[in-house]
Amino acid sequence: MEPIENQPTLTLNNGVSMPALGLGVFQSPPEETAAAVATALGIGYRHIDTAAAYGNEREVGEGLRRAGVDRGDVFLETKVWVSDYGYDETLHAYEKAAAKLGVDQLDLLILHQPAPDRFERTVAAYKALETLLADGRVRAIGVSNFMPHHLDRLLAETEIVPAVNQIELHPYFTQPEVRRADAEHGILDQAWSPIGGITFYPGWGEQRRSVMEDDTLLEIAAQHERSAAQVMLRWHLQQGRSAIPKSTDPGRIRQNFEVFDFALSSEELARIDALDRGVRNGPDPDVARPERFDMPIPEA
Ligand code: NAP
Repeated sequence: MEPIENQPTLTLNNGVSMPALGLGVFQSPPEETAAAVATALGIGYRHIDTAAAYGNEREVGEGLRRAGVDRGDVFLETKVWVSDYGYDETLHAYEKAAAKLGVDQLDLLILHQPAPDRFERTVAAYKALETLLADGRVRAIGVSNFMPHHLDRLLAETEIVPAVNQIELHPYFTQPEVRRADAEHGILDQAWSPIGGITFYPGWGEQRRSVMEDDTLLEIAAQHERSAAQVMLRWHLQQGRSAIPKSTDPGRIRQNFEVFDFALSSEELARIDALDRGVRNGPDPDVARPERFDMPIPEA
C-alpha cells in the first residue's frame, strides 16, 4: 500500500519542526512494538512517542531500523521517568534511552510528570535537559502533565521554556486552563490519550463512558464517513495540537493517519469542545505516588 503523504508539521518554540501526528506506544507489548513502529513508518508516520517507563524503547529502535527509514527523517520522542530525576541522574537517563533506542541524538526529551514530593529534583532534571539541549544531544526539551503552577515554578528556576507539554487531552477532558498557560508561554500542547484511550483502558473502571462511543462524535463521524477516532484526531490537528494515538493494529495505525484529507467545520469543532466534562481520567499530577515514582529504569 502507498504511504500517506501531506502530513502537517508544527514548529516548536526553538524552530525545530515536528510532525503533528505521531505513534504512541504506551501499553504496546514489547513483542508487538517493533512491528507497530515499522508498520507506522511504512504508512508514512515520522514521529514516535515512547518513554523509559513503557519498557519498550529498545523495540522502538528495532522498529526504526526494520523500517529502513533514514534516522534523520524520524522524530523520536521519549520521557525521563521520576526515579531518574536529579541532574546527574537525568544526564544518565539520556544515555540509557539513547542506547536502548540505538541513536545518538533524541528529537524531543521530556519529563514524564512533575513529582510534587520532590519538585527540586524535577527542576534539577529539567536543568539536565537544558544541558543536553546545549550539547546538541537532544533537539528539543519539554514536560508532560505539568499544570500551570508547575510551569510557573519551573520557569522561575530554569532558562529554557519547554517546547512541549504532553497532557491528557480528549473531548471529555480538554484542560482549557493548562492550554491557556501553555499558549501564554509559547509551549505546544501535545495530546495523550488523544482518542480517549484512557476512557476505555481495560480494567480502568467499568463506570467510565468511552469517548469513542459518544453520540455527538459518532454523528459527526457518520456525516464525514469517518470513525470517531479520525474525527478526534482532526479536532486536535485543526486546533493546532500534536497528537500521538496508540495502536498495535495495522488497520487502526493506518486509519489514524488517514486524517489529512477531510476537515471539520467550526460548528463541529465547537460541538466537540462542548463535550468536555472537566474530569481527569489519569493520575492527578499534584498527588505523589512514591511507589510508582520509585520504579527503577533498567540500564541499557
Ligand atoms: P489513545 O491513543 O487515545 O487510545 C489507544 C487505544 O485506542 C488503544 O486501546 C487502541 O487499541 C485503541 N485504538 C487505536 N486506534 C483506534 C481506532 N482507530 N479505533 C478504535 N480503537 C483504536 O490512548 P493512549 O495510548 O493512552 O495515548 C496515546 C499515547 O500517549 C500513548 O501510547 C503514550 O505514547 C502517550 N501517553 C502519555 C502519557 C503521559 O503521562 N505522558 C499517559 C498516557 C499515554 P489497539 O492498539 O488495539 O488499536
